[in-house]
Amino acid sequence: MTDYCDIIDIKTNTDEEELERQRRCIGIVKGLVKERSDREGRDITYHVTTFGCQMNARDSEKLSGILEQCGFLYEDDELAADLVIYNTCTVRDNANQKFFGHLGSLGAIKKRRPDMIVGVCGCLSQEKSAREKILASYPFVDLVFGTHNVFDLARLLVMVLTREVTKGKGSTVTQVWEATDRIVEDMPVKRNYTFKSGVNIMFGCNNFCSYCIVPYVRGRERSRTSDDIIGEISRLAADGVKEVMLLGQNVNSYGRGLDEKITFAQLLQKVEKVDGIDRIRFMTSHPKDLSDELIDVMAASKKICRHIHLPLQSGSTRILESMNRHYTKEQYIDLALRIRDRIPDIAITTDIITGYPGETDADIDDTIDVIEKVAFDGAFTFIYSKRAGTPAASMPDQVSADVVKVNFDRVLAKVQEISTKQAARIEGRVMDVLVEDINRQDPSLVTGRLSNNLNVHFPGDQSLIGKIVDVKLNECKGFYYIGERIR
Ligand code: SAM
Ligand code: SF4
Repeated sequence: MTDYCDIIDIKTNTDEEELERQRRCIGIVKGLVKERSDREGRDITYHVTTFGCQMNARDSEKLSGILEQCGFLYEDDELAADLVIYNTCTVRDNANQKFFGHLGSLGAIKKRRPDMIVGVCGCLSQEKSAREKILASYPFVDLVFGTHNVFDLARLLVMVLTREVTKGKGSTVTQVWEATDRIVEDMPVKRNYTFKSGVNIMFGCNNFCSYCIVPYVRGRERSRTSDDIIGEISRLAADGVKEVMLLGQNVNSYGRGLDEKITFAQLLQKVEKVDGIDRIRFMTSHPKDLSDELIDVMAASKKICRHIHLPLQSGSTRILESMNRHYTKEQYIDLALRIRDRIPDIAITTDIITGYPGETDADIDDTIDVIEKVAFDGAFTFIYSKRAGTPAASMPDQVSADVVKVNFDRVLAKVQEISTKQAARIEGRVMDVLVEDINRQDPSLVTGRLSNNLNVHFPGDQSLIGKIVDVKLNECKGFYYIGERIR
């Protein structure tokens, strides 16, 4: 087999040189995939299984884009594909468990089909202990790579395919950078939707909330330049994208560390000017960095959606301080009410953790009080999950599972009561809806999204997908609407 050491090991000094190297690697993998396809007389397929957040979803689109350029064809069934990549999440332990469950079931299949290639990437592979577990207990895994190495997939595949590790003759190819200042963004992408797309505006996180593993696995905060971002969004718009979701762990600190002087609000104003983009969303906003300038820009905008995700985590000032969140209960309420005051139709959603170390009934009362005062339109409620290496993991007073369960149920019931009322407040109105899909339960209906992020189902067909149409919101069903198209 040809030795590709020169291209695998060559040092690149600039992003352009790296892009060129990746293009050459794509060409090599494509040749190898074609050889196998000709030999076996069939298409060679891939499947990417994504766990976790929007950032991972976006990374998976990049992985799929590279794989398709390499000649792999998408296969819907994870267990039937020739190449499977697990893009993992490690924010909570249940995501880890789910992933190891999937990996376990793949072991038996890989015994029957040793040519199957199995890769693991994402946040879990950044954790040393998890990586060691994969290497020791799941030796059939061919490739492990980190969150900073997504762009490098084609080169890593050259290594996997040429070292014959898939036949058990070598070891797992492992490439996990602990950190990087490199942002290689112009690789191919296969978007899940033709009409909407995520756009990374920054990577990593510097906030070190005491319970959270993200800063350890995603590295330090790095913003992309506004020229890069606007260039990507303009290309997306030219390709038919109407809605962009700007992605970052804390978009409100966008611009820090860049040579250009720019705030997140100013970036939004630039995005607003891109022709063809009708809707702009973003996530996530850390309350400590949300500026008045951003509220003003949102209030004046015709394109920025009427939705803000503003994670609260806890309503107790004492717990917030221990969490290292840098705001108090009162500051959060004041901020949320100012946003509601300036942008009356806005939906405010949030994340809430119950069971953080030392949390008492009084702390839960505070959280419930904030839910009532802010009247959240929706909330992701999480049970605290101990993450090794974070400060909260070694705190005394870890709360017992039965107490957490009672408190979690209290919080969830309150969120549901309030958000159902909130959803009903627009019943009867006519609003614009971006049509996203055929309804899964009833194919005579389509499903679309309001600016405030609620779903609406209404009679329609395939031809509406990707269009923005006016829909009368006839009946609120709690978390979604049944409507009818007006125009
Ligand atoms: N950067 C975002 C922010 O600060 O709002 C959130 C990113 S994190 C992936 C999404 C949510 O997961 C957090 O808002 C938090 O509620 C939750 N989360 C993070 N670590 C957790 C843990 N150890 N246990 C339970 N939930 C956690
Ligand atoms: Fe985690 Fe806090 Fe960073 Fe969000 S801001 S990713 S919760 S450390």
